[in-house]
Amino acid sequence: MTDVVSPSPFDPSSALPLATPLARAAERRAVPGELARALADDATRVLLVHRAKVPVVTVGAPDAAAEDVGWGAGPQAAATQRLDLLPAAAVRDPAFGAPSDAQPVARWLLLCETGGAAVLALVVPDSADASTPGIEGIAPQDPWSALLRDRGWRTVREAAVTVAPEEAALAAEATALAQWHDRSPRCPHCGEPTVVVDGGWVRRCEAEGISHFPRTDPAVIMAVVDADDRLLLGRSTAWPEGRFSTLAGFVEPGESAEQAVRREVGEESGVEVGDVVFRASQPWPFPSSLMLGFRAVARTTALRADGVELAELRWVTRGELADQVAAGALLPPGRVSIARALIEEWFGGPLPEVAKES
Ligand SMILES: [Zn+2]
Repeated sequence: MTDVVSPSPFDPSSALPLATPLARAAERRAVPGELARALADDATRVLLVHRAKVPVVTVGAPDAAAEDVGWGAGPQAAATQRLDLLPAAAVRDPAFGAPSDAQPVARWLLLCETGGAAVLALVVPDSADASTPGIEGIAPQDPWSALLRDRGWRTVREAAVTVAPEEAALAAEATALAQWHDRSPRCPHCGEPTVVVDGGWVRRCEAEGISHFPRTDPAVIMAVVDADDRLLLGRSTAWPEGRFSTLAGFVEPGESAEQAVRREVGEESGVEVGDVVFRASQPWPFPSSLMLGFRAVARTTALRADGVELAELRWVTRGELADQVAAGALLPPGRVSIARALIEEWFGGPLPEVAKES
């Protein structure tokens, strides 16, 4: 076998969900006063982030407050929702915290630009609660509660299938960064509290004068194919009967991604892998992964599920996969994931429609 990646009209490197490029405006992050200036600008839009969720509105709904800021429906014209991006004026209440160049907690984050205007995240404190009741229909006194109430909160995974690709990428960026801050209040070296600088992209340890940067954990995910062009699928011990995906695992310290592919496949299935070819990557902010997608060629075919991570393994031909998916006997990974793209690249096109999909 010389050509490990068979010709395919389906290119997973184009517009993977969550991987749409944004104008991140990194040059603005360290400019003194930039966050405050952005909040004072009426053109600025603000994305609320609350417990790894973002608010959405239904497109065309009569009460849709969010306006179109230039991210149309995009390639998936089926975008039925939009991120509920607020005008800066809606969140200038000092109760939400003044954006400063050195924030004690990560409240304001500079996410990107669209149409020349900044997009900020406002990270809502975990303690804020959208369900705090008002008194007899009067809005609650707590400004956070008033801000949170009556919004359509969605996880990134949920929003990714209903909003435009750029908005899905924005939601991924915002929640990934907010979750890093939430998990990293102190210096991991000396334990002292850190301050948030550079528009939310750096945490600075004043005690040691060192900077810490947002963490991203590389993971490999691979379509393993044997000499008969069959695909290896596995079922996690945490999944119900019938649900299958490609194998995946984290890259270990001191290991290359290609080594991680061979090690993970060996550990989880007993299959020995030869050639490994990178295909595409995808941010996976649950909370901080970067999925590195590969095609890998199997040298052996005997399967041995480890019983710890994987309960079941199988080789499938294209015909078997199509039949089992169409019959609802095999549940493939959802459309948001790179796993689906890797499988469909091998398959040669979209998988058959199924009645139910996670
Ligand atoms: Zn330190």
